[in-house]
Amino acid sequence: MNLNKLLRKNIQTLKPYSSARDEYTGKAMVYLDANENPFNQPYNRYPDPLQREVKEKISVIKNIAANQIFLGNGSDEPIDLLIRAFCEPGVDNIVTIDPTYGMYQVAADISGVELCKVSLNKNFDLDTAKIIAKTNINSKLIFLCSPNNPTGNSLNKEAILNIVKSFKGIVIIDEAYIDFAPEKSLLPQLNSFENLVILQTFSKAWGVAGIRLGMAFASPEIINILNKIKYPYNINILTQQKAMELLSKKEEVKSWVNQIITERKKMAELLGKFPFVLKIYPSDTNFLLVKMHDANGIYNYLVDEGIIVRDRSKVHLCENSLRITIGTSNENEILINALKQLI
Ligand SMILES: *Cc1c(COP(=O)(O)O)cnc(C)c1O
Repeated sequence: MNLNKLLRKNIQTLKPYSSARDEYTGKAMVYLDANENPFNQPYNRYPDPLQREVKEKISVIKNIAANQIFLGNGSDEPIDLLIRAFCEPGVDNIVTIDPTYGMYQVAADISGVELCKVSLNKNFDLDTAKIIAKTNINSKLIFLCSPNNPTGNSLNKEAILNIVKSFKGIVIIDEAYIDFAPEKSLLPQLNSFENLVILQTFSKAWGVAGIRLGMAFASPEIINILNKIKYPYNINILTQQKAMELLSKKEEVKSWVNQIITERKKMAELLGKFPFVLKIYPSDTNFLLVKMHDANGIYNYLVDEGIIVRDRSKVHLCENSLRITIGTSNENEILINALKQLI
């Protein structure tokens, strides 16, 4: 793979913004270089533009070199940056699966880049040959989401790796739900493929969707490109502090994940007993996709009861299906009791 050939010309030649904190990275007694207010410590200071402390901690936990980690304002930031770095508007295209996470489409649309979708089969499985057949000379990126949203299943690992091996562009695997899956992350294989990008997030297993922190793992060369085009201070001080705190509470996070998985199994069993439930799809995530008679009617009934789930009925292959996030055992019980009123 020739990374420079894949990259847009204007990004290749871009001279990135150089901030005060880029130009002097050491410790000093007095900082008078960034036009900061001297009062109101510590929030008066700009944050570390490369989030070095946070990356060091993630590096240890994930066993990935710090220079192979990019942190973004949610995973949505690296999704957008990858498109902007590699896809020439009106010329290049992206290939992904259908159905999948909606942000790939939105980010492609905003950049004026075509997104070509390949349908999963009825079991929500991936067909390697169909994906590769959909690519052409202008295909720069392939987005795969595993475990997939909204279907909940993990894509076949061999199929994913075959795509990574045969595609000449960059393959992005979105592992937002990997902590809930029995399948292992592809992270240990990261250094076997120079065209592989893996996305993970603090929004699901780590329980901090509110701080907006997403991770991209890739070769140092790809990470450098993302660093070059991101906003200089894309991760604020509060987010970096909260992330440091959570990264020291790995065991607690693990116990949340285990509780959610236990609840997911319980909910699949309980929901399966309702006469209007037609199918519970297998889930490696923190949600269940449930096919039912009159999903829209049940959705509206639940809204009236003060319970909000996601109606995915309009999504390809998800007709009459609700996506139900796994809550606390108390929240899940409230949902089950509301549904019992219907029979
Ligand atoms: C929730 C989710 C994310 C997380 O997005 P953030 O911007 O990190 O909150 C990423 N990908 C998928 C498929 C998701 O469902």
